[in-house]
Amino acid sequence: MKIFDLTGKTAMVTGGNGGIGLAMADSLAQAGANIAIAARNAEKGAVAVAQLAAHGVEAAFIPVDVTDTASIEAAVAASADRFGGLDILINNAGTNVRKRPEILSLDEWRLVIDTNLTSAFVASKAAHGPMLAAGGGKIINIGSMLSLFGASFSTAYGASKGGIVQMTRSMATAWADDNIQINAVLPGWIDTDLTRQARKDVDGLHQRVLNRTPAGRWGKPEDHAGIAIFLASSASDFVTGAAIPIDGGFSIQI
Ligand code: NDP
Repeated sequence: MKIFDLTGKTAMVTGGNGGIGLAMADSLAQAGANIAIAARNAEKGAVAVAQLAAHGVEAAFIPVDVTDTASIEAAVAASADRFGGLDILINNAGTNVRKRPEILSLDEWRLVIDTNLTSAFVASKAAHGPMLAAGGGKIINIGSMLSLFGASFSTAYGASKGGIVQMTRSMATAWADDNIQINAVLPGWIDTDLTRQARKDVDGLHQRVLNRTPAGRWGKPEDHAGIAIFLASSASDFVTGAAIPIDGGFSIQI
C-alpha cells in the first residue's frame, strides 16, 4: 500500500544488529527502505545486513558506541553519506544494570542513562540537519514499560526510559515545523537477549509477566514490525509525540 511504502528512503537503526532493532529494521527493509545498522558487534551486524539485503534493498553495518558522542555523530554522518540522506532514525540501542538503588554505582547509572537516553538525544540532533535537507523525517525512540511503571531493580533504566517519553514530546513539539515526526514505542516484555538475562537476574519474572499479560504470552521482536512501518511512513504524518505500548495489554491490566 502506497502510504506504507518506504522505497528510496534511508533508515538508521541503533542496536539494529539483533532483537527488537533488527525486527524493526527488517520490516522497514520489506517496505523498501535502505538500512544502516549502527551497533558495536560487527559479527551480529554482518548477519543482520545479509538478512536485510535479502529483501532487495541496500544495507550496511556502521560501527558505533552510543555512549560516545563523537562516535554517534560520525555514525549518523556515515549513514547519510552511504545512502545519500537520512529519512528515518530509530533510537533503539539499550542496556540495563539490574540492581537495587543502594548498590547501583554512579558509573552504572551513567552507563544506562548514556546508552538509553543521551544517545537518543545526540543521534536525533545529528539527524536533524539531514532530515531538514530531505524536507522532513521520522524518529522512533524506544521506551519500555518502565517508562510508565517502577521496579526495584530499574532505577537508572526507568529514569532513562521515562526520559525517552518526555524527550520525545519536547522534540516533537520543537521539530513539528520541520515536518519531523517523533514518537516513542514502549515494548512490553519481549523475548530477546536483554530479557533472557533479566529472567536469570529476577526470580519469578517469567511467570509474573505471563500472569499479567492479557495476550497470555511474552512478546516477540517481530511484534514491532507493524508499528515500525507505520511510524516510519507517511501513514503517520499527523502522529507526533505519542508513546505507543506494544505489550499484549500489559499496561492496561491492573
Ligand atoms: P538486545 O540486547 O537484543 O539489543 C540491545 C541492542 O543495543 C544491541 O543490538 C546492542 O548492540 C545495542 N547496544 C547496547 N549498548 C550499545 C552501545 N554502547 N553502543 C551501540 N550499541 C549498543 O535487546 P532488545 O532488542 O530487547 O533491546 C532493544 C531496545 O528495546 C532497548 O532500548 C531496550 O531497552 C528496549 N526494550 C526491550 C524490552 C524487552 O522486553 N526486550 C522491553 C522494553 C524495552 P551490540 O550487540 O553491538 O552491543
